[in-house]
Amino acid sequence: MTVHQLYALKFAEVRQGSMAQYFLNPPASCADQAGHMDFMLWVIRTAWGDVAVDAGFTAEVARRRGRPHFRAPSEALRLLGVDPSTVRHVILTHLHFDHCGDLAPFQTADFYVQAAEMAFWTSPIAARGEFRRLVEPEDLQRLVRLNLDGRVVQVVGDREVVPGVTVHHVGGHTPGMQVVSVRTERGTAVLASDASHLLAHIHEDAPAKFVTDLPRMYQAFDRIRELASDPDLIVPGHDAQVFERYEPVDGLTGIAVRIA
Ligand SMILES: [Zn+2]
Repeated sequence: MTVHQLYALKFAEVRQGSMAQYFLNPPASCADQAGHMDFMLWVIRTAWGDVAVDAGFTAEVARRRGRPHFRAPSEALRLLGVDPSTVRHVILTHLHFDHCGDLAPFQTADFYVQAAEMAFWTSPIAARGEFRRLVEPEDLQRLVRLNLDGRVVQVVGDREVVPGVTVHHVGGHTPGMQVVSVRTERGTAVLASDASHLLAHIHEDAPAKFVTDLPRMYQAFDRIRELASDPDLIVPGHDAQVFERYEPVDGLTGIAVRIA
């Protein structure tokens, strides 16, 4: 059975406040921790080509939103030897600004998004403050155009992208939130993305503050635990521990780690 290699790449970070601010009700373990979130994307190296998962945000959006930005997400891919212009499959876990902003360099890719996510961001409720502030209109416009060009694969539920790489609709964080299971030599890894921003969300069953549907967020935790072979193969969306727990790529310490 073919297995794949899985990497996380960091392109930005924010250090402010305390970790407690990211939870609906912070667990005791986070009480005194300084706030720190990393912004990352992931790449799955397969026999069928590289699959990118999410596409971060650009330097321009970083400036406007006051986020320290180290490199374009597509540049981070290049550091690992991945040429974005040749990537054929890009999975977008959801459409918040920090996950789908740097799409232009993927000149030949198809983009995998849940149909429920595309529908939500063009629905009337998307204009309301707590939703609207988390997206960039230009990102959504670009996806509408790509869809009309036949380059958006709108998934309903679960779908295999290449053998051993499958997206799973979980909802909770956003209506069309999807996670990605990846067959690796260590077992099945799950890219949880913002279904669990931090490891503490899933390990302590402590939902995030950013939630559209709380019952579904809990169910997403269950689904991720079912899918992953080992708790150590659950990869959170924004936890800086990712860059401490896994092996750094030679010459790219603090930027790229190999998860499996
Ligand atoms: Zn998000």
